[in-house]
Amino acid sequence: MALGLGCSSRPGTSRANRTGSWRTFRPVFLHDKCTKCGLCVSVCPEGCVVADSEGIPEPDYDYCKGCGLCAEECPAGAIEMQKEEK
Ligand code: SF4
Ligand code: SF4
Repeated sequence: MALGLGCSSRPGTSRANRTGSWRTFRPVFLHDKCTKCGLCVSVCPEGCVVADSEGIPEPDYDYCKGCGLCAEECPAGAIEMQKEEK
């Protein structure tokens, strides 16, 4: 079956498409509340949250779809979902 442009037929292909434009809400990481537990890095289904050398996480907004899972799971309440400004 032929797939149109932008479709992904296999897992692990999200890097091929910059999916950040799909977002209606964006996660804002509040570093003063973050305990550097790393949970957001683990739960992000896009694998787009990366911690720096000091353990401080930041999402790659080119690929973040704004699903909100990181904010839902953050035990410290350090991620706020805010309406995307386009
Ligand atoms: S889940 Fe929350 S507290 Fe843990 S590293 Fe991510 S932002 Fe920080
Ligand atoms: S909102 Fe979803 S896609 Fe974006 S960083 Fe959080 S878990 Fe990942």
